[in-house]
Amino acid sequence: MRQPVEIKSKIRLKDLDPSETFGLTKEKARAATHKLLKRIGELQSKLYANTDRALIVVLQGMDASGKDGATRALFEFVNPAGVEVANFKAPSSEEREHDFLWRVHHVVPRYGHIGVFNRSHYEDVLVVRVMKLAPKEIWAPRFEQINRFEKSLAESGYTVLKFFLHISRKEQAERLKARLQDPAKHWKFEGADLRMRAHWDHFMEAYEDVLDKCSPPHARWHAIPADKKWVRDHLIARRVCEALEDMKLAWPKAKEDLSKYKVR
Ligand code: AMP
Ligand code: MG
Repeated sequence: MRQPVEIKSKIRLKDLDPSETFGLTKEKARAATHKLLKRIGELQSKLYANTDRALIVVLQGMDASGKDGATRALFEFVNPAGVEVANFKAPSSEEREHDFLWRVHHVVPRYGHIGVFNRSHYEDVLVVRVMKLAPKEIWAPRFEQINRFEKSLAESGYTVLKFFLHISRKEQAERLKARLQDPAKHWKFEGADLRMRAHWDHFMEAYEDVLDKCSPPHARWHAIPADKKWVRDHLIARRVCEALEDMKLAWPKAKEDLSKYKVR
């Protein structure tokens, strides 16, 4: 059976293969991705001209699952002026003095832009739950709070696409080893990565709950097999391109009667 990418019902991550290729070859996928990325660039120019729509791309995944790489790949042909990337780290003391969605709403992209959330409000039901940073009474109600928040975004003109970059524990080990060995990657390594890795199964359970409880039609999760970067980039580009096509973007009408002007 072909494994689902768009999550419409309860799944077990153990049943999904992180190195699935869907019958694609690297060469063909790369060529198709290139076309999709160019099209995304064209569509983004139109989105940029519009003032009532925006796209939010949420990227979640374990350390080294490729959130940064996916961001870089997606915007190869996009005008950076229309992109806003928000990186969610452990909350600052000011952020901790507010409700967990405060810092999220703050970085929602302006209309006409594409916003990327590198990690997101989902950390508040993932790392917070697994590492016991707050009790269940605090994190459990957040699934519904998140659903309401994303619904209000959808009603306000935002398309919300969510991608879980699903890597295997084995592939993560390879990537973390490379971070330890390659001086150009040392800066990416943190001891915390290994502490989180030790809780792998618990994180997968927490992700299963997220995919199960927070994937309504207007803000779907996609489980992206992420062991192969070219599969990851292809699937994300395809979904982002479709979402932009679905917006049926048109060039906005002139703000004034242009026939009265002549440039000499
Ligand atoms: P990185 O993505 O490698 O830059 O690491 C960011 C770190 O911040 C990760 O370990 C996240 O789990 C952590 N983080 C992000 N959001 C939260 C949060 N709301 N509470 C606690 N830790 C968080
Ligand atoms: Mg990191």
